[in-house]
Amino acid sequence: MYTSPTINRTTTTTPKAYNGNTSIYLPTIATIEDVRDENYITKTFTIRLPNGQNLGQIPGQFVMVSLPGIGEAPISVMSSPSRTGETFKLTIRKAGDLTGVIHTLKPGDQIGIRGPFGRGFPLETFQGKDVLIVAGGLGLAAPLRPVIDEILDHRADYGRLIVLYGTRNPSELLFRETLAEWEKRDDMEFHMTVDRADETWTGHVGVITTLFPLIQINPYNTVAVTVGPPVMYRFVTIELLGKGISPEQIWMSFERRMKCGVGKCGHCQVNHRYSCQDGPSWTYAEALAFEEAF
Ligand SMILES: Cc1cc2nc3c(=O)[nH]c(=O)nc-3n(C[C@H](O)[C@H](O)[C@H](O)COP(=O)(O)OP(=O)(O)OC[C@H]3O[C@@H](n4cnc5c(N)ncnc54)[C@H](O)[C@@H]3O)c2cc1C
Repeated sequence: MYTSPTINRTTTTTPKAYNGNTSIYLPTIATIEDVRDENYITKTFTIRLPNGQNLGQIPGQFVMVSLPGIGEAPISVMSSPSRTGETFKLTIRKAGDLTGVIHTLKPGDQIGIRGPFGRGFPLETFQGKDVLIVAGGLGLAAPLRPVIDEILDHRADYGRLIVLYGTRNPSELLFRETLAEWEKRDDMEFHMTVDRADETWTGHVGVITTLFPLIQINPYNTVAVTVGPPVMYRFVTIELLGKGISPEQIWMSFERRMKCGVGKCGHCQVNHRYSCQDGPSWTYAEALAFEEAF
């Protein structure tokens, strides 16, 4: 019988209270500094906490974002620690009530922030290893972009950096200028694909698993991190295991409906774990122990 591995919470930072707030349940009122369109349904918001306080997040962690009278939702921090100073970035897809209203906000508007919360990816354990990133759709921003940027900003600490990125169609691509830069860099290997091409697309066509034959890895020195829509995990995991990467070296992030963000309310419970606190980042070995994970 498979026994549940011990969850290492050392990659969780202590939730902070900002601007005189003493409760992790009270949002801090932050200011939107900039809004950038990424695609027809996704925007990146640059956020400033009071007094330009550093958020202090780990890649893979999230904040609870709120608007009074509308609601609150978990959103991954898109900025890497290396690129977080007095502001940080959130990339938000318009999905429903709250995110719909957030998409109408402009620079100068205010927004509530709690966190950072959750277990991030343990990048310190990735050092010296090759890192394979497999990102589907919004997964590139939330929360893989900070992992990639952190590695690029400390390049000598890691082995090869291989990034596979797929979206349903070209109109859903994120960070187009950055993708063009990544394609030119010689210190990373970058491959992207779309499920369905349009007249603008001259690149690879096919689901993300069709990129796997293009890469060769050393499974004994590779850690994989994959985030994407739920359907992707099953097929990407088959490919990663097929390449010989062990379940302990495969990291993923699961989206669960969350309310409190701090392991009290139980909304995000997956079997005996709280996704907001024990996750949202898990190894495949850990996830195998949860019947409800996939
Ligand atoms: C850890 C984590 C990190 C995330 N990071 C990001 C991120 O960086 N960027 C981003 O864009 N999103 C992110 N998400 C997803 C984001 O939290 C949701 O899209 C958000 O909660 C939607 O809120 P809303 O009020 O706009 O939508 P809602 O009004 O809640 O609706 C969203 C969708 O869910 C459906 N829905 C509503 N209520 C229920 C219910 N009870 N059960 C099932 N379906 C329901 C709606 O019909 C709609 O299709 C993250 C989620 C998690 C858990």
